[in-house]
Amino acid sequence: MTHQIEVIVKCPNCGKSLMNPSVQVDNLPSIELEAVIENKKGRIYLSQIYGSYNKVFEGVDDIPDAVVQCACPFCHDLLPIVKTCTCKAPVASVNLALGGSVNFCTRNGCKGHSLEFENSDDAFKLFLDRDESRYL
Ligand SMILES: [Zn+2]
Ligand SMILES: [Zn+2]
Repeated sequence: MTHQIEVIVKCPNCGKSLMNPSVQVDNLPSIELEAVIENKKGRIYLSQIYGSYNKVFEGVDDIPDAVVQCACPFCHDLLPIVKTCTCKAPVASVNLALGGSVNFCTRNGCKGHSLEFENSDDAFKLFLDRDESRYL
């Protein structure tokens, strides 16, 4: 049995929520980002389910292994790059609404990603929230 973790995220630069309820991925509000892929500019909508790689491309092509330049749809600042993935692409970071961050590889199709919490209580809260809503 696996626990489904849903990540609610906001822009690390302007603090606005990146959740978009009008575009659903995995039947949940998506995470909206401005994206540049091989000189085309559009949007990508990521699944909020941690570990799901379903996404929607709008105005950009779904090019396998292309590195996606991600920015906030509100302040248009590029997402901070926190490290380099094992595939050599930059790893971008967005903030979790409840503290901590989600890091993900910007290479289309790469599964390199991680959750980082400012303190372990936040991680505990996330799992606890899930358990409670599961049994309501
Ligand atoms: Zn922003
Ligand atoms: Zn990668």
